[in-house]
Amino acid sequence: EPKLSGDFETLMSWADEVRRLKVRANAETPLDAETARKFGAEGIGLCRTEHMFFDPQRISAVRQMIMSETEAGRRDALAKLLPFQRDDFVELFRIMAGLPVTIRLLDPPLHEFLPHKEEELAEVAESLGADLATMKRRAADLSEANPMLGHRGCRLAMTYPEIAEMQARAIFEAAVIVAKEAEAPVPEIMVPLVATKKELEISHAQIDKVAREVFTEAGMTIDYFVGTMIELPRAALTADKIAETADFFSFGTNDLTQTTFGLSRDDAGKFLPHYVEKGILPKDPFVSIDVDGVGALVEIAAQKGRATKPGLKLGICGEHGGDPASINFCEGIGLDYVSCSPYRVPVARLAAAQAALANAAPSMADRTA
Ligand code: PEP
Ligand code: MG
Repeated sequence: EPKLSGDFETLMSWADEVRRLKVRANAETPLDAETARKFGAEGIGLCRTEHMFFDPQRISAVRQMIMSETEAGRRDALAKLLPFQRDDFVELFRIMAGLPVTIRLLDPPLHEFLPHKEEELAEVAESLGADLATMKRRAADLSEANPMLGHRGCRLAMTYPEIAEMQARAIFEAAVIVAKEAEAPVPEIMVPLVATKKELEISHAQIDKVAREVFTEAGMTIDYFVGTMIELPRAALTADKIAETADFFSFGTNDLTQTTFGLSRDDAGKFLPHYVEKGILPKDPFVSIDVDGVGALVEIAAQKGRATKPGLKLGICGEHGGDPASINFCEGIGLDYVSCSPYRVPVARLAAAQAALANAAPSMADRTA
């Protein structure tokens, strides 16, 4: 149970008076959302929905969804998952009480959802009325050499659109439930790993269609936003086109660092310390933003996005969102918010204040010169 002392609260209130950047938290559990609010988060900047799918009560339906070779089989599994997802979002919307909640559509490395053990394969075979040999072949077909560069993010929604459809329905149904009891929630639906405008267009149209259906059923409408992660170099470089169909961008600097350096985020720790020690890199680029490479792409995307849509909302939700040096960079290029893990929110509030002061300093010096 986090407790904040009086002095700490005073310091934080000073920081809040000065800072321009909003601070949100990455959270998907009610506990994380509550912690985030206690630490002063002004919304959820990233709800990674794939984390919700590992719950023991749901994982067999998730495996059924992925392993089914037919749309009917997937829809059957998705019907089991819908009530769970709706409850997830009802809880988050209630806790966040009208603050923005950015919910990212499913972005799994697929291998984490595949059945591996014999009994898991047997269970999914039974649920789909398939034989074990078929399931083994399907699992082999779906397994990838490089899952983090494979069939994940919105690519999954292009292949199996009914998954995103279920998630959008869960979000809108939850929003309607909460809007009827209290302040309307502000859902921001975020499409992951977009590389092309077309991917976002397809997803956006699908989300809008589900919204219309749910709002007709409910006899009410809720304001919502649809945006995208910018976490691939191609997305950054084509951000002007992508912005035509986005309400917001959120920079996923974990994947953007991985793909800009061509460096696996899961294995980097094995040799990066050596690089930093030798001075080949000034610091670990997964911890603190690499201003010359990843940072340049973020800046290009911010400029291109805002050239298309001046009011485009811009945030960052990778690990860098809680790193003071990176927050300073975000302030400099005019992002609207940073999002970090709940326990880093106070650090981010302070860093955002320091960054605002540091960025204001030159113009104050100009005035006195
Ligand atoms: C990112 O890539 O920076 C990001 C926030 O998404 P994830 O870490 O879930 O891939
Ligand atoms: Mg990512």
